[in-house]
Order: sequence, then structure tokens, then C-alpha cells
Amino acid sequence: MYKDIVSFIQEMYKNTDFIPLHEPRFSGNEKKYVNETLDSTFVSSVGKFVDRFEEMIAEFTGAKYAIATVNGTAALHIALKLAGVKDDDEVITQPLTFIATCSAIAYCNAVPVFVDVDRNTMGLCASKLEQWLSANTNLENGVCVNKKTNRIIRACVPMHTFGHSVEIDKIQRICNSYHINLVEDAAESLGSYYQGRHTGTFGKLGSFSFNGNKTITTGGGGMIVTDDEQLASQAKHITTTAKISHKWEYAHDQLGFNYRLPNINAALGCAQMEQLPGFLEKKRLLASKYQKFFINRGIDFVVEGENSKANYWLNAIILPNKTQRDEFLAFTNDNGVMTRPVWQLMNRLPMFSNCESGDLDNACWLEERLVNIPSSVVLN
Ligand SMILES: *Cc1c(COP(=O)(O)O)cnc(C)c1O
Repeated sequence: MYKDIVSFIQEMYKNTDFIPLHEPRFSGNEKKYVNETLDSTFVSSVGKFVDRFEEMIAEFTGAKYAIATVNGTAALHIALKLAGVKDDDEVITQPLTFIATCSAIAYCNAVPVFVDVDRNTMGLCASKLEQWLSANTNLENGVCVNKKTNRIIRACVPMHTFGHSVEIDKIQRICNSYHINLVEDAAESLGSYYQGRHTGTFGKLGSFSFNGNKTITTGGGGMIVTDDEQLASQAKHITTTAKISHKWEYAHDQLGFNYRLPNINAALGCAQMEQLPGFLEKKRLLASKYQKFFINRGIDFVVEGENSKANYWLNAIILPNKTQRDEFLAFTNDNGVMTRPVWQLMNRLPMFSNCESGDLDNACWLEERLVNIPSSVVLN
């Protein structure tokens, strides 16, 4: 039966050799725009493509402001800093995520607190968040304090797993009532919507990634989005070494970061953005083919939630148990079809094993069963 799946995937990609999980497609103006940066010599931190790429992301997502960064981890780091995350603060996130979410929290010298995910969305669960907050925190002088550790819970970072939106409206309401800043890790969800609104634009700040395996790529790159003018200008300032703008003087008014996306990478980004609507259409078509294939085969294919529209960045299936999952991983990978189990849960990693957490039943359940299957845009 796993043989059927391998044949189906090989047929879809017209490839019997090796099928990666997610590879980029450069079928548009990539070479033309990259060459323009070379011809103009503007390959580095200044240039028209950086500004244009920011405008394209702002327009596409509906965010008022977008600030390009060297990668998605840097974008999230700065977003958290601007949300006020400081030394010894706590930040709530989900244990089922890519390491970058927790790295960014740790770069602020803050500590993650793990709250369980929802089985359907695979992202932070609104009801478990509310339960954990009501049992473990007090509101003191307008800030949310962890009763056990006495630390301030400054922010909450839900992640839209594989492009499936969390119930972000509920999470937003809970965060507001507990005075917690909402920052969305939308690294995987460019082109995903909740109730018609683009993911990443519900929080005070949101971040995206354009790593090589994401829906669009700039080689490496990221973006901070926000509707707040003040935060946007601070984001631009501290990601560009906090240099005071002047024709020739070099002075800096605070500790900044060299996090600006180079123009040569942004050139790729502009070309990729032109193709994004087409990529999304093809990814959704691929997902619907997978969905039809998996019906009546005893394997659940993860579909978008009621109120959400997913980009289907990485398609995911749920095997009945860990034994079958391991058999599936071995068979597919041995036969040239790349598949991957979900990340090891963050609370199991040595750096985060002492962090506070609620019950993580759904995350543990998914960890044993979830597998990603090839999801690159299929070329005609
Ligand atoms: C890709 C990704 C990031 C950012 O990764 P970079 O490689 O630094 O661009 C952040 N969070 C999640 C969940 C991701 O999948």
C-alpha cells in the first residue's frame, strides 16, 4: 500500500529518481532581476529591490508596513524585541514548531512557556491557552505574571504550522484580555488566510521567512510586518545598525543589528512574488489531489480548517501510530520519495527541557504520527 503512494507521487512529479520535500522554482524574472543588481553594483543593503520587495509583501498581506531582514529568525527576534520582550520575561509558544521560534525567544534572554497545540490546526490551541493562563497567572499592575516563577509573560507567539492558520481571532482575544502582546510566527504561512485576512497581520507584529524551502525564497530572507508606524520605523532602524540617517556622518543611537536583507536577495524575492499567486494555485491543486488519493486509505490527509485558507506549504498526513509512521518513513525514503517526521518537540530539547509547560497531549500525539510528504510546486 505504501507502494501505491510512492507511485502516485512519482507520477505527479513525473520523476522516478528522487523527489525532495520542497524545492524552489525559478521560472520567472529571477535571473533578469539578479543581473540588474550586478550591473548596477547595488548588491548589498541598499537598493530598489529591497524597497520594492517590502512594498510587494505589504500589499500582498495587507499589512501597512513591511521590513525585510536577512532571515526569518532575525525577523522574529526583532519582532519580539519590539513587542517589549526583555531579559527574564516569559513568552508563550507551542512545543510543535521549528527551532527558530524558540531561538528568537532565547535571543531576547527570555524563556519559552509551552502550551499545547490543537490537533486539527497543529498550532497553538486557544482553549488550552486560556486554561493555562487562568490557572497559572495573575494580572499585576497591568502585566500578566506567572504565579509560580514570578516572571512577566510579555508575549505569545503562535505559529501557523505548515501554512494552516491557528484560530488566531480567539488567541488574539485571549492575549488582549491578559495584556499579552501577540506576535505571529508566520514563517510558513505566506498566502494563508484566516477569515479572509492574511496570517501574520493579526498580531502587533508578524514575521515571515523566505528560506530555500519556503513557499517563495530569496535564498535566505525574512520580513517583519506591522500596522504600527512607530514599530515599523524602529524595526527598520534597529535592523540597519541603528545608524542615524546622515549623508556622511556615522553615528548610532542604540545597539542595532546588521539584519538588512541584501538587494541581490530581494531581487529574487521580487521575481518570486510575481509568481506567488500561481504557486499558491498549484499548491492547492496538489493538496486536493493528495486529499482525494488518501480518502479510504486509512491515512488522514491534513486539510484546511473551516475559517481558513491554507497555502499548503508542506502537505501533511497522519499515520495511525508510530510503528506505521516509521515503516512509512523508511519505505518512502528508501524509494526516492523524501518524507519527514515532524520536528522533535521543543520541550524535549536540552536548551528548553526545563521550561514551564501545560499538558502537551496533542503535541505528543501528533509528534508520533505526523509526516510531511513532497510539496514542491508541480511543473507542467
Ligand atoms: C522557516 C521558519 C522560520 C525562519 O527560519 P529562517 O531559516 O531563519 O528564515 C521561523 N519559524 C518557523 C516555524 C519556520 O518554519
